[in-house]
Amino acid sequence: MSDLLNHAHAATDTMDPGSVSQTSGMDLTRYAEAPGRRIRATNVFPYLSIHLVCIGLLWVGWSWAAVIACVALFFGRMFIITAFYHRYFSHRTFKTSRTIQFIAAFIGTTTAQRGPLWWAAHHRNHHRHSDHPPDVHSPGLWGLFWSHMGWFLCDDGIKTDWKQVPDWAKVPELVWLERWHLLGPLTLALGSFAAGSLLASLAPSLGTSGWQMFVWCFGVSTTLLYHGTFTINSLAHTIGRRRFATSDDSRNSFILSILTLGEGWHNNHHHYPGTVRQGFYWWEIDPTYYGLRAMQACGLVWGLRPVPAKVYEDAHAHAPRVREESIRLRRLRREARRAMNARRRTGEGATS
Ligand SMILES: [Zn+2]
Ligand SMILES: [Zn+2]
Repeated sequence: MSDLLNHAHAATDTMDPGSVSQTSGMDLTRYAEAPGRRIRATNVFPYLSIHLVCIGLLWVGWSWAAVIACVALFFGRMFIITAFYHRYFSHRTFKTSRTIQFIAAFIGTTTAQRGPLWWAAHHRNHHRHSDHPPDVHSPGLWGLFWSHMGWFLCDDGIKTDWKQVPDWAKVPELVWLERWHLLGPLTLALGSFAAGSLLASLAPSLGTSGWQMFVWCFGVSTTLLYHGTFTINSLAHTIGRRRFATSDDSRNSFILSILTLGEGWHNNHHHYPGTVRQGFYWWEIDPTYYGLRAMQACGLVWGLRPVPAKVYEDAHAHAPRVREESIRLRRLRREARRAMNARRRTGEGATS
């Protein structure tokens, strides 16, 4: 059933002639079976080991200090990923100094999502091909699991495509950080252990320890951040509503926006990625944008690119097409359900 529904979903959620529905089966098979798309144990091991650190919760327990530090690191670093890895390094929707640029890039590496150039290169490729091969994380093409976390565990996904980031490849300190991106997670791991050990001796009433801070701040916070970020590649192309009839499956979702500080307004973003805002209206909560406005007020960033008036006109113009899309989707889902039921009945008839 889910296969049929997925097919119906992919076939109807795209409107233009080069959309997912028109992608030939041959192409998909060729991309899906390419040697570079095999998941490798050497890529899985570091990713899995951060998840395994979370098992340490069974031994280290919890304290308010550890939980607050974990949540602060989750949202603080989510801001860096969305404001800098995404809106700055991938889309250049505002300007900043080289110092802030480097500090943000370094904090970004502590999330263990590699360097900003790797991140931006894959993301630019995603926008170039959104839900068409060779978009590496399209749930409509490759399924939810692959688009969430399979794509970066294979050889093609782990490489930095330097051709996509010629602008950043000229900045030596960013190229250096790209090479030494593991310094970020290592600093966080050692730093959280050291901070916990220090607190244990200076403020024992907090009830924390080096190992407890290591598990909560490095393990739990980074694992949650992984999956929070990855929902935009998987769920933001699967659940939610569409405002713009883009040639991909992108959606707007309030829940994903809360979780990812504004990134859930993904259909808006795919329609017009050139603005610093992803919530195009005041009621579309976009905490990353508010954070960048605050940084602008302090003189740390500037040149924030607004939403052009044309985009609001597009929203009106696209409304009938989006309605038509959803009617077609509902009809195809109904047909898929009927076909599945008929197949089931035929199967039952054959076995009885
Ligand atoms: Zn997308
Ligand atoms: Zn983007």
